[in-house]
Amino acid sequence: MYDYDLLVVGSANADLVIGVDRRPGPGETVLGSDLAVHPGGKGANQAVAAARLGARTALLARVGDDAHGRLLLDSQRAAGVDTVGVLTGGAPTGVALITVDPSGDNSIVVSPGANARLAPEDVRAAKVLLSSARVVSAQLEIPLDTVAEVVRSLADGSRFVLNPSPPAPLPAEVLAACDPLVVNEHEARVILGGSAGDAPEEWADGLLALGPRSVVVTLGAEGALVADGESAVRVPSVQVAAVDTTGAGDAFTAALAWRLGLGDDLPTAAAFAVRVGAAAVTREGAQASFPTLEETQAL
Ligand code: ADP
Repeated sequence: MYDYDLLVVGSANADLVIGVDRRPGPGETVLGSDLAVHPGGKGANQAVAAARLGARTALLARVGDDAHGRLLLDSQRAAGVDTVGVLTGGAPTGVALITVDPSGDNSIVVSPGANARLAPEDVRAAKVLLSSARVVSAQLEIPLDTVAEVVRSLADGSRFVLNPSPPAPLPAEVLAACDPLVVNEHEARVILGGSAGDAPEEWADGLLALGPRSVVVTLGAEGALVADGESAVRVPSVQVAAVDTTGAGDAFTAALAWRLGLGDDLPTAAAFAVRVGAAAVTREGAQASFPTLEETQAL
């Protein structure tokens, strides 16, 4: 009996956003809009996306003992995420400083802050939490050593889902645990390097050769490709008017991980996840755009 459908191990950031007429060059100061502060970070986003769908969700993360940390805890709790695993202190809360120009192009500086201090010993101390979840998901905005410790600490029978973002070379023991490894086109190309090829089917083959049990490639408006070494299946997305794609991949991955834990096979879980991703792109923002189960079904 599991207490949680999904445990997300990952980052929590405050996104500090300023609109500008044009982004500053070296040594230059420009005036911008009022500051907007949004909860973000891939771990926090995945946890909110899953909880909003109705998944029993917990987050293992680290925030600072500061106002941004309280914003993140409040937004997790408001979505229904259990924050028993959110540790506080060690460094300021991670922040992303984002300037956006009228064409939508942005420049982003990330200070990982407390995310960089989420350590392997924090994972070992959370053994009970890890053994209470059907599915554990992670991303790479926390130290790779910490992700590797998650893989070593998985309880028998629990499933591991990794979105390697930002993409980095992955140790074999982490790759071998992924079921699935979830990548977008950019992540697939970086991980595969020069050997990538041009077709998503080639990326899936190349990634499977690295050792994960299964692979999902997200393809934006085209949906996703799922592959497990025996078959590769295209899962089309729903046609929607896209407003803002921020967080679509996080919503997709959270939805996929949840449904896999409930027993869906990979194509069925992906067919649900593309609807969640499509719903998320119809609204502004990341966490603010994530749909409920009713909104997903109504799409
Ligand atoms: P990321 O956000 O990581 O770059 P994608 O752009 O591939 O990842 O988007 C993730 C998922 O969100 C897609 O698989 C798809 O289901 C959905 N999605 C993204 N963009 C669109 C779009 N323009 N129309 C419909 N669905 C979309």
